[in-house]
Amino acid sequence: MNTNCLEGLRCPKCGKHGPFHIAISALATVTDDGVQHYGDIEWSDDSYCDCPACDESGIVQDFRTPSDQPWWEAQAAEENPASLGQRGSPGKPAQGKPDGYPG
Ligand SMILES: [Zn+2]
Repeated sequence: MNTNCLEGLRCPKCGKHGPFHIAISALATVTDDGVQHYGDIEWSDDSYCDCPACDESGIVQDFRTPSDQPWWEAQAAEENPASLGQRGSPGKPAQGKPDGYPG
């Protein structure tokens, strides 16, 4: 279960929670010598994403799986009308001798 950078993401093909290759957007100070510094890294649901484990590729949105949704959202989705007419039967006393009975 991913709870930080990859929260809500899981490979739709192999089910792994990462790592993934994601095409990011970042600010970098680039000189002729190379990259000296980078700022915040960002990506969106439209960013390219692939799974190195199974080579599944797509966009980040494709890697969002409903099974990783927060529990409060899952609970809201399962909200169903109250089922009436279900009667619970009273429990019968268990029959049989208890285990470990001293002989
Ligand atoms: Zn995969």
